[in-house]
Amino acid sequence: MSLTFTSSFDSGAIEVDAVGDDSAELRIRPDVRSDGSRSEFRQWFHFRVGGVGSSGARLRVTNAGETTYPEGWRGYRAVARIDEQRWMRLPTGYDGRTMTIEVPPSRTIEVAYFEPYSWERHRALLADCTARGARQQRLGGSLQGRELDRLIIGSGPQPVWIIARQHPGETMAEWFVDGLLQRLLDPDDAVARGLQRMATFHIVPNMNPDGSVLGNLRTNAAGANLNREWLQPSAERSPEVLAVRDAIQATGCAAFFDIHGDEVLPYVFIAGCEMLPGFTARQQQEQGAFAADFRAASADFQSEHGYSAKKYQDDVLKLASKYIGHTFGCLSLTLEMPFKDNANAPDADAGWSSARSARLGADMLGPVLKHLERTAP
Ligand code: ZN
Repeated sequence: MSLTFTSSFDSGAIEVDAVGDDSAELRIRPDVRSDGSRSEFRQWFHFRVGGVGSSGARLRVTNAGETTYPEGWRGYRAVARIDEQRWMRLPTGYDGRTMTIEVPPSRTIEVAYFEPYSWERHRALLADCTARGARQQRLGGSLQGRELDRLIIGSGPQPVWIIARQHPGETMAEWFVDGLLQRLLDPDDAVARGLQRMATFHIVPNMNPDGSVLGNLRTNAAGANLNREWLQPSAERSPEVLAVRDAIQATGCAAFFDIHGDEVLPYVFIAGCEMLPGFTARQQQEQGAFAADFRAASADFQSEHGYSAKKYQDDVLKLASKYIGHTFGCLSLTLEMPFKDNANAPDADAGWSSARSARLGADMLGPVLKHLERTAP
């Protein structure tokens, strides 16, 4: 009996070329737009396989070497879960062209680039946070009409903004926000109480609802990379950024965090604003102090490996954290987590995972509180 494949569900994406009894040839699908056309990015995959016999199956992804981040497959292992159980990593190889995933015997197995964070779960997160005291506000709609929501938490004078999943395939970003929210809404947590007194949090757990459901890595339903839209967002191409940028203008901003995943680097790191022309000594000092506090708060965070400040030049203000840092002169950071694992603290079973992302989100709150205490007016 042949293997069966489907990706007709929330965030599903794969192309199937050939199917046998215990093997298949697959291709990673490009990001798609509303009109069915494709954009230039391709990396995300998510599908279910049925009919894997007692000797398992070998899946060959023949265009891995032609994806947006081919180096992302070196040292990478696909994630999967059998019969809706816990996610795990599968034995995965890459020879520079083809990625090979070894699938264990199973009735049905779900395979993905990283643990998905579904739209249904997103809606449940909003409902749970609202029941625990957060205020939910609709900022606008996506191009395909999905709700773009923020959660407002706390009553302090300093506005803190946290956004996630501008790049929808970086699902670890929403797991991070999930963990952060669980702690921020814990009435027994002294850090959370201090933060709610000093700050008002504005949190957008999913900046790109359409891309998330479409199974895209980087783009929305118009093919726009939202993290290159902040200088000139438009209602036609990037209404998600337009709505959030307007809301930030309305509240002001004392600290900004844009949460991402990096396909290649096996570390957690931040990218700051030091390349901006108006970057001040005070901003430098605040950024350095925050990084030092974060290192002390989480053994998963480090400052040795990351992006060179030279990575962005002319287009730098198109990026969210640079635009906000430049506009408000505040602490403004992009946080990156790995798709693979943290090479400083590897986990042979799970690699980098949803649980570690959530823990990191909770652990960032202590450093945020220290930052607000240092900079309080
Ligand atoms: Zn990203």
